[in-house]
Amino acid sequence: MSAIQPLAASDTLGEAAPVPRTYGLVAHRRHRTAHSSAHTCALAHWAHASEPAVRALQLRIAAVGGAADALERLGLLQTLPAPHRLPYGHEGGLMKLVSRVAGGIRPEDELAGVVYLMDPLDPSSLYPEAQALKRQCVTHRKPLLLTVAAAIEWMAVEWANAGGPALRGDTAGSIRPLAQQALALIAHDSMKARMVEFADQHFEVLSRTPVRYATGTTGRKLNELAWARGWPAETPWVHPFRSGPMGGDAQIAELVLDRRCQKVIFFEDVHVARQHEADIQLLERAVCSVGDEAACLHTFDMADAWAKAWR
Ligand code: PGA
Repeated sequence: MSAIQPLAASDTLGEAAPVPRTYGLVAHRRHRTAHSSAHTCALAHWAHASEPAVRALQLRIAAVGGAADALERLGLLQTLPAPHRLPYGHEGGLMKLVSRVAGGIRPEDELAGVVYLMDPLDPSSLYPEAQALKRQCVTHRKPLLLTVAAAIEWMAVEWANAGGPALRGDTAGSIRPLAQQALALIAHDSMKARMVEFADQHFEVLSRTPVRYATGTTGRKLNELAWARGWPAETPWVHPFRSGPMGGDAQIAELVLDRRCQKVIFFEDVHVARQHEADIQLLERAVCSVGDEAACLHTFDMADAWAKAWR
């Protein structure tokens, strides 16, 4: 059952209609191939759960070939205007998304964010355009939703922050209650001050999660913040693993794979070469391996919007 109910008259956003924004949509083959069970595939699950939010927010969809075909074949998002179709991946559809996140050629093509239902076993998840898409989303502070759990929760976050229904977890459904979302907090060196600022601003919300983990140095700074705020001195607020370059990202990836961590808040500095780039990608691929429940928030803006919606 979806956590988002169909749109009722009282759920509309009132007179001031939002300026239309477009989200890119890509889904790897595994996530757009329907099977016999109720939620069929990740794309269908997202479309069913998020259609009311997408409609209320008046979001437009620009779908890369295979995802556009699947929406049509599976009869999804039929209450919305027809999606704009981009070329197939092998014709450059994903590359065009990267350009459009950065602003595109024509102003009307600019994307506000991207839902990219990623299968880490699909070779194209390793293509340069997949990495460039993440870089450009982070650079332009636009949301990138790599898993079905991330995409469903994000649309509900946007809707709640725009005055729609309050975000509420649903144990039987698609959005885990905050009390069931274990967090990992990671920030590269140039982003650590932002991470501390984020944790300070949203300390109450973050403290409602059952447990928090972090990489070594980020964790030390977050615990110092928590203790300065009066958190009990004998209890760490976050459990610190090794520093990122020493394997902390990989340790957090193992927790994600074991379904003991559902949300990775990772403030990456995409403008410096990272010695442990492979570990960072490993962590992201681990999140995509358990995409029915795990999500990654890549920027301060995303994390801030997420925490505001839960508040
Ligand atoms: P750190 O690791 O928190 O130990 O600095 C973060 C990273 O670089 O991945």
